[in-house]
Amino acid sequence: MEGLFDHRRYLIPFRSGLLPQIFTDTLVIGGGAAGLRAAIAASAHAEVIVLLKGDARSTNTAWAAGGIAGVLGPDDTDESHVRDTLEAGAGACDEPAVRRLVGEAGARLRELLDWGMRVDRAPDGGPSLGREGGHAHARILHSGGDETGRELQHVLGERVRGLANVRLFERCFALDLITPGSEPGSPVMGAITHHPKYGLQVIWARSVILASGGAGVVYRETTNPPQATGDGLAMAYRAGATLADMAYVQFHPTTLYLAGASRALITEAVRGAGARLLDGSGRAFMADLHPLGDLAPRDIVAREIVRTIRRQGVSHVWLDCRGVADFPQRFPGLAALFRRFALDATRDLIPVHPAAHYMVGGVRTDADGRTDVPGLFAAGETSCTGVHGANRLASNSLLEGLVFGARAGHAAGRDASGTPANGRAPVPIVSDIRPSDLGELDLADVRSSLRSAMWKNVGIERSAQRLASAGEMLDFWARYTLDKIFDDPSGWETQNMLLAGALITRAAAWRRESRGCHWRDDCPDPVDALRVHDLWRRGRAEPATQVVVGAEVPA
Ligand SMILES: Cc1cc2nc3c(=O)[nH]c(=O)nc-3n(C[C@H](O)[C@H](O)[C@H](O)COP(=O)(O)OP(=O)(O)OC[C@H]3O[C@@H](n4cnc5c(N)ncnc54)[C@H](O)[C@@H]3O)c2cc1C
Repeated sequence: MEGLFDHRRYLIPFRSGLLPQIFTDTLVIGGGAAGLRAAIAASAHAEVIVLLKGDARSTNTAWAAGGIAGVLGPDDTDESHVRDTLEAGAGACDEPAVRRLVGEAGARLRELLDWGMRVDRAPDGGPSLGREGGHAHARILHSGGDETGRELQHVLGERVRGLANVRLFERCFALDLITPGSEPGSPVMGAITHHPKYGLQVIWARSVILASGGAGVVYRETTNPPQATGDGLAMAYRAGATLADMAYVQFHPTTLYLAGASRALITEAVRGAGARLLDGSGRAFMADLHPLGDLAPRDIVAREIVRTIRRQGVSHVWLDCRGVADFPQRFPGLAALFRRFALDATRDLIPVHPAAHYMVGGVRTDADGRTDVPGLFAAGETSCTGVHGANRLASNSLLEGLVFGARAGHAAGRDASGTPANGRAPVPIVSDIRPSDLGELDLADVRSSLRSAMWKNVGIERSAQRLASAGEMLDFWARYTLDKIFDDPSGWETQNMLLAGALITRAAAWRRESRGCHWRDDCPDPVDALRVHDLWRRGRAEPATQVVVGAEVPA
């Protein structure tokens, strides 16, 4: 039996020569902010194919509510945005990467305005900039109140559709990156994909950009849409790429907690406007727990909610928005959502609960999105560029997707156009895993068991004991799930979720400290010696290397 971490190289058996073949210069896996921005950049140099496993609306990008951070206001400075990002990252950011993010923000935001993105405007006609937790200045560009993500997805999608040398394949699922050898370091030559109409195909490419988003769905409670199953993390790991900082998962304190309401996010701005968290007996409990009360950092509020729920034996706490002036006008999206569940924020208390929100760790890249697998780049939530450190500053993730998506796109496109026609010519690739016992397996049950175990044991409060117990459970489920061969995305996603969950669990167990969004009950303080990136690669049970934080991987 293969262990969880030495899981076989490919999810399915195949012979590349027997499958339909498609050729391109640069293949982009993912059509959210990072993938689309990367495709636009790559198209300046090369032909591009973009894969989306769903449609254009099923991305984390389309669900983003708050906005995009960037210094546009007259009183704001890059230095201030850098400081806020480093502060949120709890001593674990790579400063050169942060400076690059902030320094290129203006150009990325201004081009969105040039491309026709509709943003909310101030009375003087300039963009109205919001302020969010952790930011010293108003620097959040937003659209339609809380519909920034939808507008961003639309604008980038239209731009890509207008490019003659970019093809967009919707509902096309990437199973695995293909490499001629199975050892780490073997170059990526494309991907094996599945489309409901065309079946399995091989897409050969001279460079590949992974922009497949996050992994929130490995947790029972999550703000993420259903496609965020960590496929890119698992694919990259199987192909031998290094993953970094996998313990860091950001939890959002307030999502709507009602049967039938997928954990819709209730933005921090509501608490910023005066809403208060109440416990089961109606007490505003944050006031005594932190000097900033309800506006304490996200991880602290999330932890205090979980503790209150456990102490009082209740299922959720309440958000009291009755003191927020003009709620329906200020938060039209939320007001409409509440109405669907017969709630009126000006009259009713809103039941809320924390949920997994953002994957901070991911596929380790340099400043141009290059991974340590030749030909493979990564951008957006699936990557780890070092900008977020141990915790992400609000609204920095769309920005990261735009800035590093553009950088990765240019580098991957240039590489592809510079590769001679025979430099990465397809070689026959054979995955000769034997079809295993295809016996009965209730996939939905494996998924829900995994998600519950991750939430209970690898969630907001972690400890050596809980992490060990989760590790054992995952290992056990892996024994009879990972050796199966599935023939549709739900099986492949479940296998990817098991691997992504196990990687998070293993890194969280290794990180014997509390830092940023990673909290350990048994080691509640940060440890100076652990101010390092932990780097994980296939076939190693301990981190491969630890790079001292701040020492950026050279471009
Ligand atoms: C509710 C919510 C609100 C948020 N609000 C904000 C905010 O206000 N500001 C902010 O900065 N960030 C916010 N975030 C975070 C931010 O939205 C994400 O980090 C960001 O959009 C990620 O972009 P991405 O391009 O990396 O991935 P995504 O936008 O998630 O795109 C991933 C793409 O990869 C594709 N894909 C995945 N797996 C496969 C596969 N196997 N084969 C083919 N395609 C695949 C998907 O179909 C999709 O097209 C929010 C997140 C959520 C969930």
